Amino acid sequence: MQKILNYINGAFQEPTKGEWIDNYNPSKGEVYSLIPNSSSEDVEQAYQAAKAAYPSWSNTTIEYRSEILSKIAAIIKDNLSDLAYTESLDNGKPLSLATKIDIPRASSNFQFFANAITQFSSESHESVGLNAFNFTLRQSIGVVGCISPWNLPLYLFTWKIAPALAAGNTVVAKPSEVTPMTAYLLGEICTKAGLPKGVLNIVHGLGHTTGQAIVEHPNIKAISFTGGTATGAHIARTAAPMFKKLSLELGGKNPNLIFADCEYDKMMAVTLKSSFANQGQICLCGSRIFVEKSIYKQFKTDFVKHVTALKVGSPFEGDTNVGALVSKPHMEKVQSYIKIAEDEGGTVLCGGNQVQVDGHENGYYLEPTVIEVADDKCRVNQEEIFGPVVTIMPFETEEEALALANGVRYGLSSTIWTNNLNRTMKLAKQLEAGIVWVNTWLLRDLRTPFGGMKDSGVGREGGLEALRFFTEAKNICIKFD
Ligand code: NAD
Repeated sequence: MQKILNYINGAFQEPTKGEWIDNYNPSKGEVYSLIPNSSSEDVEQAYQAAKAAYPSWSNTTIEYRSEILSKIAAIIKDNLSDLAYTESLDNGKPLSLATKIDIPRASSNFQFFANAITQFSSESHESVGLNAFNFTLRQSIGVVGCISPWNLPLYLFTWKIAPALAAGNTVVAKPSEVTPMTAYLLGEICTKAGLPKGVLNIVHGLGHTTGQAIVEHPNIKAISFTGGTATGAHIARTAAPMFKKLSLELGGKNPNLIFADCEYDKMMAVTLKSSFANQGQICLCGSRIFVEKSIYKQFKTDFVKHVTALKVGSPFEGDTNVGALVSKPHMEKVQSYIKIAEDEGGTVLCGGNQVQVDGHENGYYLEPTVIEVADDKCRVNQEEIFGPVVTIMPFETEEEALALANGVRYGLSSTIWTNNLNRTMKLAKQLEAGIVWVNTWLLRDLRTPFGGMKDSGVGREGGLEALRFFTEAKNICIKFD
């Protein structure tokens, strides 16, 4: 069986304690590789390598770093089909999605920050009347930690690593233990691109051991984390006494507000995607759909018809819309919410069942599920399910729509479907979300800030926000007579 190895100091190595974790192919429900169950000793080795590489890397020119990052971007692009296949195999997502979205975005992450760092500037201020000039340095932090989840494996892993490296830091990174494969391949890509040894170190393992050792490490000065809200809270508690810099990108329960004046066909096509893309396992999926009462009945009929027509199948078949969920425990969690919905008086309009896919009988497939709820405070409407399950509910007024949208602990993204500009502006201002889409979904410009309010996180990624996070600002004040 293939063994994945840790990438430390530019070389691949086995975990020091020789312990391994099973890695599953979710489309077949089979173990197909083993990953290191790394201990704090492995994390310490990764830290020492990053520490040794830091003085030299942080003193390289911007042009040099930019060139290396561009090379990494190019090699990812050159290996698009292999990486996409690996991502699909490891995660269960349709190959078409990994090919069109995940891997191209991983390449763009490196290319974007290769360019952005060349434009990263800081402020200067003249203190008129006090005879002083101030200028601000943006200095790299040192060794930083990057921890990512399983839903968009290489896409999110590189979204952290690229700005960290661009800003001159060295990195100890941990991908999700559920989807480690493309992160493993990234090590080789970085070596090929000429990244000096020790600049990026990738340690595989479980969250509460390997991840915890990164967060607890007293000399890893900043942690960029994407994952669940409970994990984020735990990381915040662990890191707070050490005053680490933290960026926490957490869960979501995102509302979709659909008004009668929207472009109906466009809204329907995009809402299908925002509900079930990646099996509903995107933190930005619109899992709560609120529809203006005058078109609710029509919406319900049409939406259910389209959802029922989605093909659940092997990630490797070209016409598959919904692939496998990432793991058995995750599938069981999603299924438990369908039961909870029924117990709470919700109506399953379609879906709800496990699917047997020919040749993949043990895979983790679930029908895309639409639940009509009467009370927005029910658990299925309040808690993040992170699977192919959406709720629908009517509203009558703009005020009611806003209250429903904001009536959860999360605040990651919101989508509004309307052609009324006045309403758009009013709602966009009042929605409690870090990202508001109007008449679209998931359209991302990498220069824009990305992140959540409330229990969806602290801090912003993207563009200059990421470079600011991965640097310390130091103001220098010079007095003259
Ligand atoms: P998770 O919190 O279980 O794990 C995320 C990562 O943290 C994994 O690498 C895991 O091993 C690690 N981890 C777990 N416990 C840890 C600990 N004590 N210390 C350090 N690291 C630890 O999340 P998941 O199940 O992998 O991912 C799904 C969640 O991620 C969902 O809640 C989803 O909304 C969220 N997510 C958020 C965003 C965003 O940008 N806001 C993007 C994608 C996913």
